[in-house]
Amino acid sequence: MDIDIITLFPGMFAGPFDESIIARARQRGLVVIRLVNLREFGLGRHKVVDDTPFGGGPGMVMRPEPLAAAIESVRRPDSRVILMTPQGQLFRQPVARRLAQLPHLVLVCGRYEGVDERVLTLVDEELSIGDYVLTGGELPAMVVVDAVVRLLPGALGAEESAEQESHGEEGLLDWPHYTRPREFRGLTVPEILLSGDHARIAAWRRAQALERTRTRRPDLLERRPQQPAGPERAAPPASDGQPGSSSPDSDGG
Ligand code: SAM
Repeated sequence: MDIDIITLFPGMFAGPFDESIIARARQRGLVVIRLVNLREFGLGRHKVVDDTPFGGGPGMVMRPEPLAAAIESVRRPDSRVILMTPQGQLFRQPVARRLAQLPHLVLVCGRYEGVDERVLTLVDEELSIGDYVLTGGELPAMVVVDAVVRLLPGALGAEESAEQESHGEEGLLDWPHYTRPREFRGLTVPEILLSGDHARIAAWRRAQALERTRTRRPDLLERRPQQPAGPERAAPPASDGQPGSSSPDSDGG
């Protein structure tokens, strides 16, 4: 997958894209991320990218010409151009799954009061990462890239599977996880997880996932896709009902 990010602040992306899973995916060539400095498309000697709003009022608006030139410099026939905006469709896991199938994403980061309305004719969709207003589209673009890249085949190791987690295909929250030690400040690990009975563990985990979704996010249950009859989320059997021996905080017990 190729991702182009159009931004006035390319330096903001250095940390998050140079660490951990995203860095590894880049090193493996699963994703190529390019930062497009919008300033280079600015107008005139001063590389102007914004102006005062017609009709008056506070703040500045991003002019359409630099954004159009930047978008057109990277757009391909197979591109999906996405404007980050608090007015867009809410970015949820199903959107991340859809975007992870695409060959080329172009993420456009707004600033100031946002972009000139005519820029909307140049983009394929608008995404919001939540009902709050940030100072710019850079953090939202990072959120989208992180959520999408970790879904690319090969981006996660087996120990970081994306199959068993919140907001998966089934629309449930994840079940509770425990590792060593067996007792922490008087809190013990549920006995069933130590039982080695894989079928009962799977049933317990599924019941926990359903219950915590019901109590914490009942809206997710309403939004859930139709489920087939029978077990809806088969928890994979634990190898031995114990955390792996390579567990970093292994206490040998
Ligand atoms: N005046 C705009 C409004 O009220 O809808 C807000 C502009 S905001 C201060 C500047 C830029 O930050 C936006 O153009 C957008 O790119 C980005 N942004 C802010 N909040 C966002 C969110 N929740 N999701 C996605 N992008 C956001």
